[in-house]
Amino acid sequence: MVINMIDLRKKAEELHDRHSDTFQIEVDEIESQLRTLVEGYSVPLEEAIRSVVNRNAPEYKSSTTATDKSNSQIKIGDINSSGQWIDLQIKIVDLWDPTSDSIDQVGLAGDETGTIKFTKWSKSNLPTLEANGNYLLKNVVTDEWGGRFSIKLNRTTIIEPLDQDIEIGDGSTSIEGALVDIQSGSGLIKRCTVDSCTRVLQNGACAEHGEVDGKYDLRLKGVIDDGINVFEVILNEQTTEFLTGINLSDAEAMATEAVDTGVVLTKMRNMLLGKYYKIQGSKFSRYLIANEAQLLSDPIDTDSILIQARSI
Ligand SMILES: [Zn+2]
Repeated sequence: MVINMIDLRKKAEELHDRHSDTFQIEVDEIESQLRTLVEGYSVPLEEAIRSVVNRNAPEYKSSTTATDKSNSQIKIGDINSSGQWIDLQIKIVDLWDPTSDSIDQVGLAGDETGTIKFTKWSKSNLPTLEANGNYLLKNVVTDEWGGRFSIKLNRTTIIEPLDQDIEIGDGSTSIEGALVDIQSGSGLIKRCTVDSCTRVLQNGACAEHGEVDGKYDLRLKGVIDDGINVFEVILNEQTTEFLTGINLSDAEAMATEAVDTGVVLTKMRNMLLGKYYKIQGSKFSRYLIANEAQLLSDPIDTDSILIQARSI
């Protein structure tokens, strides 16, 4: 059987439409995967389609039963395989900038046992998750990439706001080390305010909503070196204020006077860089999302770091 390029393209577009909720890849990539199987390995088209679907949409096999099945409610720390349908009670710890139009929201969710990356697809038409909001998520599916688990919210997911404030826990860890870098996107930043978007504006524009006024926020993205490893730490407004003594209105006043928000970052860099800190927070991949930070009066001694490192 000869399959021409147009057929594969058409099949790729069909697949992309049909699985727009769960596929993380664009039509080009679907087409390329199909082509590799069909042309490179002479796999029959139907088999190739099945393979591409299974590879990119873990929910596909169970999606027919998923909606009316009641899942077990588990904790983030208990997630141990991909393709699991679960219910979770979580708090939104951090929202990140989506890297693709197919993603509506992406960020970090947490519970008492730790944190996990979540992705919500644009075409799922789900309500917006707010930073620091507490939710019961019903019918999310686990995924794994590079040994790390994540959860996907899809069109069958139900989002219920919770009254309680979930404590983000014991994935919690603490590091001590020198602050060796503070990255751009730190200091006085602006976030998009459209529909609780909260994306950080670049030159006054949101990646999703274009040019907007935005709302000021304080944040630090830094690098801590404990002598053995480096950690990227993210400090929110409160923790940033605690370390620098500069609150949001101070920072706005500084920026207004200098007609430049960059003065805040410069000042914070001068204050903080090279000093030693103890930072406590939740570790996620290479990030430590700080919920507490303190200046150590004395430089840490290498022995205690080594002991700490061995005990991790
Ligand atoms: Zn926006």
